[in-house]
Amino acid sequence: MEHLIEEMHVTEAGNADIPTAGSFTAGDICSDCGICCDGSLFRYVGLDRHDLAGVHNNQAKILLSRSQCSIEMEFPCACHNGSGCSIYNSRPKPCAEYSCRLLKDFEAGELSAHKAQSLARKAAEKARNLKKMAIELGYIKPGLSKNQSLNHAVSRFIDKCEERTAIAPLFAEERKFLVRVIDFLELVDRHIHSREYLRDARETLARDGVRNAEWADRSEAIRLKYRYSDRQFEIHDCPEVVDLFALVTSGWDFEEVLPSEKLPAMRIWKKEGAYYWDTPHPGPHVDGENPPRDLEALCDALHYNMLDFYEADHPDRICLHAATMEIGDKGLIILGDYQSGKSTLALEMVSRGMKCIGDDRVALDPATGNLHAVGTAFAIRKPLPKGRSYVSARMLANKHAAIGSRQWQYLQLPAHCFARRGETYSAGPVVIAEREEDAQTRIVPVNKSEVLRMIVKRKIGSNLQTVQYFDALLAFLENRPVYRLTYQTPALAARLLEKLT
Ligand code: SF4
Ligand code: SF4
Repeated sequence: MEHLIEEMHVTEAGNADIPTAGSFTAGDICSDCGICCDGSLFRYVGLDRHDLAGVHNNQAKILLSRSQCSIEMEFPCACHNGSGCSIYNSRPKPCAEYSCRLLKDFEAGELSAHKAQSLARKAAEKARNLKKMAIELGYIKPGLSKNQSLNHAVSRFIDKCEERTAIAPLFAEERKFLVRVIDFLELVDRHIHSREYLRDARETLARDGVRNAEWADRSEAIRLKYRYSDRQFEIHDCPEVVDLFALVTSGWDFEEVLPSEKLPAMRIWKKEGAYYWDTPHPGPHVDGENPPRDLEALCDALHYNMLDFYEADHPDRICLHAATMEIGDKGLIILGDYQSGKSTLALEMVSRGMKCIGDDRVALDPATGNLHAVGTAFAIRKPLPKGRSYVSARMLANKHAAIGSRQWQYLQLPAHCFARRGETYSAGPVVIAEREEDAQTRIVPVNKSEVLRMIVKRKIGSNLQTVQYFDALLAFLENRPVYRLTYQTPALAARLLEKLT
């Protein structure tokens, strides 16, 4: 579907400035529509530098295309005020020159004013409803500009549905959305602008019918749910997977429930010796190309997806990429770059009697400033660290090893060593950990902007809108002690960290 990305690179879009039929103008039609400006039809419009003067000061999102160094204005266009273009007289040339098929037909007298207006209104209404549904289903994340356009959401959705229906049927809510997408695209394709991916969408829907018929013969599935949510997991033809859920989590408390019509949050099934899984969160997904061949390999997918489910359960929390330890009555947050040794350091601290709230992620509630244990199992990268400095961490990892993939060893630590999902802690200091060869172990105060930078750089998950996210983090860091730890030996680092709260 790469063609979709390139499609709007040509200079298109805008409210047309074209002739009238009687007293009725093209502008009247456009004012009821706007779908070529609000991201329903296109993702961006290519501009030239002379066009920039007109959009200046209108908070339009102007980007330089990485591939061709051309200037692009992202949609939804910030200059569109809901009923038209707020900079109509100085709008960019490509906008002024654009005329959709509807307007051309109106101009040529092939479409009456009444008919043209009614079609434009209908298209805009369908786009509005589709966007609302896309937001509800999580296909569009309000506040994240690059994901905000309906065009982007729809084209990505069709791509994902094509992948899914190659091996499994769509979930009911996905099928419903796909039907609405086709309905919208058919109207657009016939009257406004050709849509190449309409054919893909129709073929995908047909293939979904075939997959549904195939799946009707499957054996009855096992259903699991966890204590904190009504979300269910559906397991077909592989009962051995049931125990994995507990091994890659901590305190989620899974239980078997009776089969129901309820939409599952994830399906796992076995076919020809491989495990396949799919999920509708946060949009159709299926792992069809390299399906895990053993239970161990499936663990990584499960472990990773648990964060998505946690975020979906708690849309108002921010998941930080950090190891977090309970010291005194506070949660000490340890940030660090990729492979900076956070988990090994956390394990070392556990071996010294401290409790780990999360080895890789922790949820911050911006409203209270409290930290919540996400409850994904402690996972340590393989191979386990070598050398005398890591003896205690390595021994602990070996003692509590539950299951391991090629890359990760998952641990099942006892409750006094590792927090269960749902446990809440008051937040303490924040530390950026840097492991360096021959470094002197020391902790020094650091600038808050560095901490903010590290949090944003290592952000995982996508909860909260961007602006809210920054506001929440700034409020959280205000008056909070923040440090940088440089270390080589985890035991010495642990000793210093113990004294921080
Ligand atoms: S500048 Fe005006 S005409 Fe051009 S995309 Fe934005 S709102 Fe539409
Ligand atoms: S899609 Fe056509 S009718 Fe709708 S606003 Fe754009 S130019 Fe006007």
